[in-house]
Amino acid sequence: TAKSRGRGGIAIYQSSAHSVARDMFRMEADLRKAIERQELELAFQPYVNLEQGTLAGFEALARWNHPERGMISPADFIPIAEDSGLIVPLGRWAIETACMQIADWRKRCPNAADLIVGVNVSGLQLAQDDIVGAVEAALANSGIPGSALKVELTESAIVENPELARQIFTKLKQLDLSIAMDDFGTGYSSLSYLQQLPIDVLKIDQSFVAGMLKSDDSYKIVTTIIALARNLGMRTVAEGVEEEGQADRLRALGCDMAQGFYFARPMAARGAEKLLETGLYSPSRKRGGKQIID
Ligand code: C2E
Ligand code: MG
Ligand code: MG
Ligand code: MG
Repeated sequence: TAKSRGRGGIAIYQSSAHSVARDMFRMEADLRKAIERQELELAFQPYVNLEQGTLAGFEALARWNHPERGMISPADFIPIAEDSGLIVPLGRWAIETACMQIADWRKRCPNAADLIVGVNVSGLQLAQDDIVGAVEAALANSGIPGSALKVELTESAIVENPELARQIFTKLKQLDLSIAMDDFGTGYSSLSYLQQLPIDVLKIDQSFVAGMLKSDDSYKIVTTIIALARNLGMRTVAEGVEEEGQADRLRALGCDMAQGFYFARPMAARGAEKLLETGLYSPSRKRGGKQIID
């Protein structure tokens, strides 16, 4: 064997590749159980109206607290869910859970009446699941209007099958949902999709926001995306805002909304509810309001 040859390069490679595969396999089995046992949770990250400095809504982000491994990032388990097909039940769970949470807030917090919650949807859910049926069922079960829900899709999800995306988006719009293109600027979408598809919001990828005060190129890209969205009648959300300077500049550039650690980190439903209750959602809050939670 390679190992017995002494240098071990191949053997080490083989054994580590094997353990990676085993690890993935275990993680997939664990994820399947976690979905069945309802061990996943949704965290909620606020996004704010930059002009008014008020809370505009939340993005729902999946969280997996593994019994032995601790918190696993969605960046690690979403790809496994996509490779294994588990993204279909996971995606349904996210839509249902977000709708039930919205219904609960709407029942108990007057400030939640106009709240919009964004749920991330993978491209595979468009192809492999009846997402429109899943949304319809979740709205019916929770009793919330479609206007309280936004779906977030990346460019790549759309590029894979633009005609399918168009059909599905059109039906989601009939249910009154809004549609956001996530991580905009990082994929390979043709600008013509922006015109052909009923997209309401462009989310400016956090890589451009992170660089916008340091790199002239990033700054120009951010400026251009805001102008593009405005010209096409879409709204903008800047992702990954971590500094006051970024928020100030984005506001001056006419970016509508912002999301990021500067305003608030993703939080448990209870924390999000506190934000709703404290009245920070009130439009009378002073313009350009700062951090809404620490
Ligand atoms: P995303 O949809 O672009 O979500 C934004 C990510 O940026 C979140 O990471 C959020 O915690 C992070 N973030 C927010 N503000 C800041 C900031 O100021 N600085 C930095 N460095 N990061 C910030 P998270 O929660 O780890 O999620 C990663 C990705 O996993 C999401 O990116 C989304 O693509 C995917 N994801 C999460 N939940 C779901 C889900 O339920 N379904 C699907 N299909 N994908 C999901
Ligand atoms: Mg998102
Ligand atoms: Mg994003
Ligand atoms: Mg992102």
